[in-house]
Amino acid sequence: MDSSNWQKKDLQYVWHPFTHLKYAETPINIVRSEGSYYFDENGNKYIDGISSWWVNLHGHSHPYIAQKVYEQLTTNAHSIFSGFTHPRAIEFSERLLNHLPKSFSKVFFSDNGSTSVEVALKMALQFWHNQNKTKTKIIAFENAYHGDTFGSMSVGERNVFTSAFSPLLFDVLRLPVPTKENIDEVKQQLNQFIQSENAGAFIFEPLILGAGGSMQMYDVALLDELIFICKQHKVITIADEVMTGFYRTGKFFATDYLENKPDIICLSKGITGGVMPLGVTVCAQFIYDAYISEDKHKTFFHGHSYTANPTACAAALASMDLLEGEETLKNIQQISLSHLSFKEKIKSYPKVLSVRNLGTIIAIEIKTTEEGGYLNNLAEKISTYFIQKGILLRPLGNVLYILPPYCVSQSDLTYIYTCIETFLDKEV
Ligand SMILES: *Cc1c(COP(=O)(O)O)cnc(C)c1O
Repeated sequence: MDSSNWQKKDLQYVWHPFTHLKYAETPINIVRSEGSYYFDENGNKYIDGISSWWVNLHGHSHPYIAQKVYEQLTTNAHSIFSGFTHPRAIEFSERLLNHLPKSFSKVFFSDNGSTSVEVALKMALQFWHNQNKTKTKIIAFENAYHGDTFGSMSVGERNVFTSAFSPLLFDVLRLPVPTKENIDEVKQQLNQFIQSENAGAFIFEPLILGAGGSMQMYDVALLDELIFICKQHKVITIADEVMTGFYRTGKFFATDYLENKPDIICLSKGITGGVMPLGVTVCAQFIYDAYISEDKHKTFFHGHSYTANPTACAAALASMDLLEGEETLKNIQQISLSHLSFKEKIKSYPKVLSVRNLGTIIAIEIKTTEEGGYLNNLAEKISTYFIQKGILLRPLGNVLYILPPYCVSQSDLTYIYTCIETFLDKEV
């Protein structure tokens, strides 16, 4: 099919995510991807500056992952996971637990980030229910994002994404993101929630709020204090590491920076290296224990058709092999250092409101006369500008960020930085 035909048929048959339909631009048709590049049908090359929506770790169409996936596809592509098991899920659980604190002991599989959060919320709520305790409220941060299903939308910030559903979303105890200035009030608020509101769990994105908070970052020590309070009062803590897992923030998990460890952790996105959908929710033994009973009503009644899909687990194991190799770590350190010096360079630019950086993520908040936020028109201008330069960047409103695959070359990173400087000088 020639190019105009693909695009006509796309418009005819396909509904794309997060896309304003009335003025939707013709989407770019990607026919091949390799390393940190996309190639479209006309042979144009784009550097993937956002890891395909934060999922890709080792580069596209990675031959090692492809080989492992192929072997699994021709061995056991998929099998049921209730009453049955398979080697890839067991191996992956064991290896994942080796990277987590000893308090974690059980891995529950699902198939994306939102479902990993749904599982965590249900696991925590039923933990209390199974013990006949009415701890039914969830504490969550302002500007949080935890996914697009109803439970995960409920714990996320109410905004343009959720307004159509607001009457149906459950109430959440909303805590401001802690800063050095407000920490005393936040702690007081948290204590009040715990004492008077039946709080059963606290869910948070550790150290950095992604889609809802436009890469807003906050201090490890402050989060440590909040988790400490929860632990003292037996409120279950849930770390949503869907974006931050697998070295995104410089450590294997963002919660590795913490002294006080959460009770449940949600993982997805990078878990398979970005090639297959998979989600997991890992919990501490005491949570699992609340489900062991003679009483069948205490069963955790949750599962998905593709729970622990063996092919996805094979991809996750292959990605784990690469993550545990020296080269990946070297690349991650290199990206972190590069970001750091770029931050120093541009933080005083007149058009820059602030620059934030954590591990392989750098976010630049651009001054704009419009109100900030996701619908800020600057976002489209930024996307279009960088696509013309052969770079995929997809800002969150007026916040431009780079979140590259770990295999990105130094010269490609430098090229992205240079284009950002030119953009800030000439286009804002
Ligand atoms: C992306 C994301 C989710 C949702 O994951 P999906 O796979 O898109 O459903 C949940 N939490 C965080 C922190 C995320 O970044």
